[in-house]
Amino acid sequence: PVRVRFCPSPTGNPHVGLVRTALFNWAFAKHHGGTLVFRIEDTDAARDSEESYNQLLDSMRWLGFDWDEGPEIGGPHAPYRQSQRMDLYKDVAQKLLDGGYAYRCYCSQEELDTRREAARAAGKPSGYDGHCRDLSAAQVAEYQAQGREPIVRFRMPDETITFTDLVRGELTFTAENVPDYGIVRANGAPLYTLVNPVDDALMEITHVLRGEDLLSSTPRQIALYKALMELGIAKQIPSFGHLPYVMGEGNKKLSKRDPQSSLNLYRERGFLPEGLLNYLSLLGWSLSADQDIFTMDEMVAAFDIADVNPNPARFDLKKCESINGDHIRMLDVKDFTERCAPWLKAPHAPWAPEDFDESKWQAIAPHAQTRLKVLSEITDNVDFLFLAEPVFDEPSWTKAMKEGSDAMLRTARENLESADWASPESLKEAVLTAGEAHGLKLGKAQAPVRVAVTGRTVGLPLFESLEVLGKETTLTRIDAALA
Ligand code: GLU
Repeated sequence: PVRVRFCPSPTGNPHVGLVRTALFNWAFAKHHGGTLVFRIEDTDAARDSEESYNQLLDSMRWLGFDWDEGPEIGGPHAPYRQSQRMDLYKDVAQKLLDGGYAYRCYCSQEELDTRREAARAAGKPSGYDGHCRDLSAAQVAEYQAQGREPIVRFRMPDETITFTDLVRGELTFTAENVPDYGIVRANGAPLYTLVNPVDDALMEITHVLRGEDLLSSTPRQIALYKALMELGIAKQIPSFGHLPYVMGEGNKKLSKRDPQSSLNLYRERGFLPEGLLNYLSLLGWSLSADQDIFTMDEMVAAFDIADVNPNPARFDLKKCESINGDHIRMLDVKDFTERCAPWLKAPHAPWAPEDFDESKWQAIAPHAQTRLKVLSEITDNVDFLFLAEPVFDEPSWTKAMKEGSDAMLRTARENLESADWASPESLKEAVLTAGEAHGLKLGKAQAPVRVAVTGRTVGLPLFESLEVLGKETTLTRIDAALA
C-alpha cells in the first residue's frame, strides 16, 4: 500500500512551494488509494513556533487537504509532532552507535574549518575527513579529559549509491561526495538528518516526494535506511521523487521571503483554493497539453509522478490569476455570492453596513462573476451600488470627460429618461443613439456615462449595472456630473 507524507517545519508563513509539495503528495496518495501522513518537523526549538504550527493546520484545511494520519486526528504511529518523539530518536541514535553505524565525533568547529580550508586549497573533497571514525580508547579518554562534547556522526559506507528518482531517473552519488554527517548535536538534540528518515521508516513511508533542494540528502538517507534495516527498525527503503524548483522574477529561485510566495497573500486577495491549487499543480505537471483548467478530482484521477517534469518551473502570477478567474466562473452563482461575503463588509467595504442592499447584490452578482480574477476585486466593482456617491478618481474623470462629452451626456440622459428600465437592451439603445447623435461609437459614448454613475472607467457590464442601480439614482448622478 502507498504511504506518503507531508512533513513541513513550522517556521514562518506557509509558502507556495510547500503547498505544491503537499498537493503532489496528496494527489499521489488519492490516486493510489493510499495513505497521507501529515507530520510536523518541529525539532528546531529556536526556529519553530506554535503560531506557525496553527497556521499550517489552518492553511491545509483552507486548501481542502485531508490527511489520514497526523495532528488532531492521530493514527497508528502517533504522535505526529517530532517534538513529542524525542525518546524514540535517542533510542535509535544509541542503537546506531552500538552497532557501529555511527560514532562520536570530538572535532571542534575550528578544527573542522581549518582542515576543510586546507583540503580545499589542495583541491581535495572538503567534506568531513573521517578524523574521528576510528578513535582508540586512549584518544577518546584524552578528548573527554579536555572536556570536549561530541556530536554523533553517521558513518557513510565506502560505496557508490545509486537510486532511481521517480522524477529524474537513475542518479549516482560517489562515496567521496557524500561524507559522514552529523545526526545528533553535542547537546543531545537530534537533527533533521536523523529524525526525518527515522520517522519515514517508523511510519512505513513508501514514497518520498519533496523538493529538489533536498536531493543531496537522499544518498545519506538511503545509507541510513540500510543501517536501520539491518537493525530491524526499517522495513524498506522508500522510493524518492524530487519535485522541480519553482522560479520567480528574473529566473531566480522563488524564496520564502519573496512576497509572491506567501500563501496568506493569496488567501487575502481572494484566490479560491481550487484555483490556486490548479495553478500550482502546473508547476512541474500538466493534465494535458491543451487543458490548463481542471478540478482537483480530475487531477487526482490523472496524476502520475512519472509525468512530473524535472526542469525548473516558472511561477507566473498573471497565469495564476487567470486560472483563478476561470474557477470563479465555474462556481454556481449561490456559491459565488457566499464566497464574496467577506469582501462585502468591514474592513474591506467602504460603505456602512446598513447601506448594503441584499437584493441589489443578488442582482449584480452574476455579472460580477463573469469579470473577477480574484474575489477581493468585488468590493471596488460594486461600491457604486452602496455608497451615496460614486468614488471619483481624477484621472478616470478627465479620461472619460473629453471635450463634447457634456453634450453627449445630456442627450444620453434624455434618452435614458424615456427608456425601459426593466431592459438593459433598452438602456444600451439609449446610450447608443446618444452617441450616434454626437458622432461617437458605443464604447466612446459609454465611458462618460460609466464614470458619472460608477466613478470608474472600467467595471461590470454597464447597462446591467444601471438597471440594478435604478433610474432615479442613475439620472441624479448624471445630473451631478453635468452640474
Ligand atoms: N521538514 C522538512 C522541510 O520542511 C521536510 C523535508 C522532507 O520532505 O524530507 O523541508
